[in-house]
Amino acid sequence: MEHPENDDLYKGLKVNKGIADVPTVNPYMKKRVQRKSYTPAEYVEGILKGNITVLSQAVTLVESAKHEHQQVAQEIIEKCLPYAGKSMRIGITGVPGAGKSTSIDVFGMHLLEKGHKLAVLAIDPSSERSKGSILGDKTRMEALSREKNAFIRPSPSAGSLGGVARKTRETIVLCEAAGFDTVFVETVGVGQSETAVHSMVDFFLLIQLAGTGDELQGIKRGIMEMADGIIINKADGDNIDKAKLAATQFRNALHLFPPSESGWFPKVLTYSGYYNLGIKEIWDMVEEYMQFTKQNGYFDYKRNEQAKYWMYESINDTLRDKFYNNPAVAAHLATAEQQVLRNELSSFVAAKQMIDLFLANLGAYHD
Ligand code: GDP
Repeated sequence: MEHPENDDLYKGLKVNKGIADVPTVNPYMKKRVQRKSYTPAEYVEGILKGNITVLSQAVTLVESAKHEHQQVAQEIIEKCLPYAGKSMRIGITGVPGAGKSTSIDVFGMHLLEKGHKLAVLAIDPSSERSKGSILGDKTRMEALSREKNAFIRPSPSAGSLGGVARKTRETIVLCEAAGFDTVFVETVGVGQSETAVHSMVDFFLLIQLAGTGDELQGIKRGIMEMADGIIINKADGDNIDKAKLAATQFRNALHLFPPSESGWFPKVLTYSGYYNLGIKEIWDMVEEYMQFTKQNGYFDYKRNEQAKYWMYESINDTLRDKFYNNPAVAAHLATAEQQVLRNELSSFVAAKQMIDLFLANLGAYHD
């Protein structure tokens, strides 16, 4: 192109000849932007082949709030179910700072060395508030995140605890169908989410810390009762004796609990995630538990009970969802609430009116 500025008569700045534009900024960009969408059968085929990209996309559908995504997701889950159920499902909980990510990283590497394939999932209902999950973040599990036999997925972020937990439970099915024989479900040990995790795993591992003075304080009795193994982290350096003392205190406390349904007496071990000490013993314990409960029938019994639990959870979830997304209900709910607040209507009458309205408008639904 001719530049008039380069004419001798032109007194302004000279403009150098430019170079031709490159055809596109990044020739690979297109490939990445265009996300291939598959039919449910293609999803299932990819998952069964262990294709991680397809698995990730299917999990995204499971997590989606969109009605049409859910329909596809449910079809995929149903087709994957016959191939699922064969993994060892382990719940891992502990307060922030207990060392969950450090521990999961070393536990995971230990399992991979033994030839396992590991999926790390999370339930973190608080992530809705922070708009992004704090759990399952790849950078938190540095070694594992580089391994092709490890699949790390952050917590689904939207919805109620029940909704988040259900999505994680469904993701387990897909991971198992994709060939992952061990599944970790991580949660922060501070709220209700432990109960949800407990209802989807075979073994519940509680990470504790020593050296905080009164070790048993702040731990809800319910969480301890759920634990099949209590592991005391950071048993290294000056902290070893304190960790051992804490272990004794936990053992004593556990003796006060009624015997567990499984017939298994929870073990208490000390370890160091950071220095990779005592890890083998923890996995020997988990394997011993699996063997023990498979032999006495508790393993299958618990899985059946969990399946029943999730059926009811799913029914409750769906009904709640359909109710609150019903346009007729949505249009009148705020008014009914006001009437209740002003004592013009009793709570029960208002509830009945809303339910009647819902039942009269059953066909209507929107996302
Ligand atoms: P999370 O919040 O439960 O996931 O805990 P992190 O794994 O992020 O660990 C919290 C802090 O404790 C980090 O600074 C870790 O380096 C440290 N930590 C984790 N495991 C150990 C351990 O075994 N020994 C010691 N001394 N520090 C540890």
